Amino acid sequence: MVTGAPAKMLDRRDELTPMLAQYVDLAEAYDDCVLLFRVGDFYKSFCDTADEVARVCELTRIEREDSTGTYTACGIPVDNAPKYLERLLDAEYRVALADQVEDPDEASGLVDRAVTQILTPGTVVEEELLAAGTNTYVAAVARGDADGTAEQPRGDGAPGTAGTAADDDARFGFAYVDVSTGECAATAGSAAAVEAELARTAPAELLVGPGVDADRFGDAVGDAAVAAGADEQFGADAAGAVLDRYAAADRFGDAETRAAGAVLSYAEWSSGGDELGHVSRVRRYDPRQSLGLDATALRGLELFENRAPSGETLFDTVDETRCALGRRRLRAWLRRPLVDRGRIEARHDAVDALAARPLVREAVRERLSAAYDLERLVGRVSRGRADARDLRSLHETLAVVPDLRAELADVDALADLREALDPLGDLRDRIDEAVVEEPPQELTEGGVIRDGFDDDLDEVRATAREGREWVADLEAAERDRTGIDNLEVGYNQVHGYYIEVTNGQLDDVPDDYTRRQTLKNSERFYTPELKRREDEILGAEERADGLEYELFCEVRAEVAESAERVQALADALARLDALASLATVAVERDYVRPELGGDDVRIEGGRHPVVERTEPEFVPNDADLPGGTVALITGPNMSGKSTYMRQVALAVVLAQAGSFVPAQAAELPVVDRVFTRVGASDDIAGGESTFMREMRELTDILHDATADSLVLLDEVGRGTATTDGRAIARAAVEFVHDELGATTLFATHYHDLTALADRYDRVRNLHFAATREDGDVTFLHRVRRGAASSSYGVEVADLAGVPERVVARAREFVDADADTAADVADSDSDPDVDEDGDAGGDGVGGSDSALGDDAQRTLSDVAGADADAPSAPGRGAAASGDAAAGDELRAAERDVLAALRGVDVAETTPIEALNRLSDLQRRLPDESAKPSAAGDASRPDGTDETGGDDG
Ligand code: ADP
Repeated sequence: MVTGAPAKMLDRRDELTPMLAQYVDLAEAYDDCVLLFRVGDFYKSFCDTADEVARVCELTRIEREDSTGTYTACGIPVDNAPKYLERLLDAEYRVALADQVEDPDEASGLVDRAVTQILTPGTVVEEELLAAGTNTYVAAVARGDADGTAEQPRGDGAPGTAGTAADDDARFGFAYVDVSTGECAATAGSAAAVEAELARTAPAELLVGPGVDADRFGDAVGDAAVAAGADEQFGADAAGAVLDRYAAADRFGDAETRAAGAVLSYAEWSSGGDELGHVSRVRRYDPRQSLGLDATALRGLELFENRAPSGETLFDTVDETRCALGRRRLRAWLRRPLVDRGRIEARHDAVDALAARPLVREAVRERLSAAYDLERLVGRVSRGRADARDLRSLHETLAVVPDLRAELADVDALADLREALDPLGDLRDRIDEAVVEEPPQELTEGGVIRDGFDDDLDEVRATAREGREWVADLEAAERDRTGIDNLEVGYNQVHGYYIEVTNGQLDDVPDDYTRRQTLKNSERFYTPELKRREDEILGAEERADGLEYELFCEVRAEVAESAERVQALADALARLDALASLATVAVERDYVRPELGGDDVRIEGGRHPVVERTEPEFVPNDADLPGGTVALITGPNMSGKSTYMRQVALAVVLAQAGSFVPAQAAELPVVDRVFTRVGASDDIAGGESTFMREMRELTDILHDATADSLVLLDEVGRGTATTDGRAIARAAVEFVHDELGATTLFATHYHDLTALADRYDRVRNLHFAATREDGDVTFLHRVRRGAASSSYGVEVADLAGVPERVVARAREFVDADADTAADVADSDSDPDVDEDGDAGGDGVGGSDSALGDDAQRTLSDVAGADADAPSAPGRGAAASGDAAAGDELRAAERDVLAALRGVDVAETTPIEALNRLSDLQRRLPDESAKPSAAGDASRPDGTDETGGDDG
């Protein structure tokens, strides 16, 4: 980061020219900002700051030379500034704009400059720099209890998990503010709770207080620009004093106070030190009052970000809002779905009502499309930044309110909302009587205030008007008086009013004409009376402009006084738009109102809301999961497992956000949290191994899920060696089943886990299958009861046309493996098996963990050649057994068999299976297998989807 005054200049501060000295002083005073210094039509920076600005903004630098030396300079054109400022903010810089605060014409010597604006990634309010219909937040995390005490080390010293118990007990404060809209909220909780709040708030900028390490929050920090906040801002007293200006600080706990006070004082600082008039309240909230979605769940379910950059998100899918207010609200609803059944059903009632009334709905949406972003508008009004067009926009928005009320007159479910739609008639009238319909952008050049609004203004305007009328009549009068029939009266900026006489008529010019200007073919004159009138007109106009500006500011201040009423109206408009959007989606996409309140998930004909939009042949699926069910889902890759799991979770999220759900019928529980461990398997974030991340996510789930949670686990254990992976997967299923009781969808390649369904009441098997159609393998995408055949990989190979003999042989191997796995699962499940009983009967022993033992053996049997597997006592025996049996096989077949054993079926995609089978065929002598068509099924580009090893 290159901020503050350049060292090269600081070193010779006293030798610099006065202007550069002024630059250095300002740059030093704002040393955590990039100072941009207004010179002429540019915002300039110098030396290493200039290098950095040039790099980030892709601008050229120049060498600037004066008597004291040569300095690099870079200029951002003032006219084009937003584009460059945005780049600096994206690069996480804070920017201080130093403007001329004195008219250069009136300055005696150096023009005075001061910082007039501070822009930071999370506090920008400039419309050009803000995306429409979103929030831009700056957030703060404070540690309660003591000032600046060192943070306790985490249990594992690494980011992204719940941390130690001591840590979790410590209360962290979390607060955020959107300076453009005035929304401000604060909460407190454990590190994990704050981490989840951080993830869903997704601030653009994050301030961390003393004793807080941002790294601990891992992914939840997202794209936020992180900065250590000033210690004193986080101090209990200072923070309390700031918070007190906005809310009754004594209602807030210590940690909340610190976070809220710090974030507000930062927001004030960036806004020039003023109190933020539009922050009319600081909402204190409990994260448990909304459906828990942590960073992993938000990402895994693709609520706001799709892994494919161009892909649609859930938000995109349900966003049919008509105005920025509604768009922002809908986002907030998805970000924090409800957990209170009454509130959820109130939203469903409203959506239902709007869905049932197409005409009302369409009329409402049509009117809403005329609504301006009142939240940001109020922000500008309160900061004294709103111009006359903003007030007209407010007026136009207020004008649709009575119509909206009328439209909603018969919609009982929206009665409260209708009442909240306050037309603010007084304000609307006030704006209308004051401000002309199409005001100019500039506030100081007149033309803003209506005639009849103010007596004084009318009077000066009358004076100016009379004067101009007199001038307008002058031409005719003077032509009469002088007899000069081509005499003209005109006006120009430099010389004012004049009477122009062509050279041929100069003789007729009367004595009271004074020469003002000589042109080529004519002379220009004035008379004493014209001069007097001119002064009068110009004086009156100037006074009128000044008066207009004053009057406008008065009206604006009146609007600012009403900020809270406008915000309340904005809130109602936002809700209405979000509800109308959900109703539109419900009708147009055939969503159904879910029934809430039971423990069970029962979905008939459910669809994935996002995938169905791009998949014209989307196959709906049912889900029947009594509360606490652990559904084990098997099936080949690409058969639809994760789509299915996610569509169940998305139905829950949508329902609790107030939406209908993509299904024919749905009964859903109200869940407290949705957890996902959804195979983002190939992203390696922050150098952390995929497996480590997977285990962290699993840790969070196993720690925090309750019987009211919905858990999605996709391929748990896949990131490590098969033995361990299988063992972890199984242990996780058992724990979820026995201890948590959370309704769980668990997709797995570890086929032998499906045997658990026989032993546990609430474990169920579901599977996805494939068929052959016209010679092609087709995934049906249809969920079925029961486990997939253990040899689905081989079946897919069969479907694809691999020669019968190879398929049959492969099936034998798989069957043998399945038997072993079943034996193992059986013996494991029997708590009565004694230490040297059946479980160890085949000579595989030595481990003191029953689970590890079983899994080890399963691995040996299924994938004896797995290079990752630690060598186990049983292994040598198995290998020698193979060797003995091999005496009867021909060498080539033995070779193929060994290779086949080396294939981890669970880890193999259908395509890989084909490639391997084709390879095995080739290794066999001609009479054993002919070259087959299967070879053609290899991927044409030769790529390997999973990056797996070759067997
Ligand atoms: P898996 O998790 O089994 O590997 P996915 O759920 O990722 O499979 O699905 C693979 C692809 O199949 C998806 O990208 C989607 O295009 C398609 N698909 C999944 N489910 C369905 C469905 N129910 N109907 C139609 N296409 C589907």
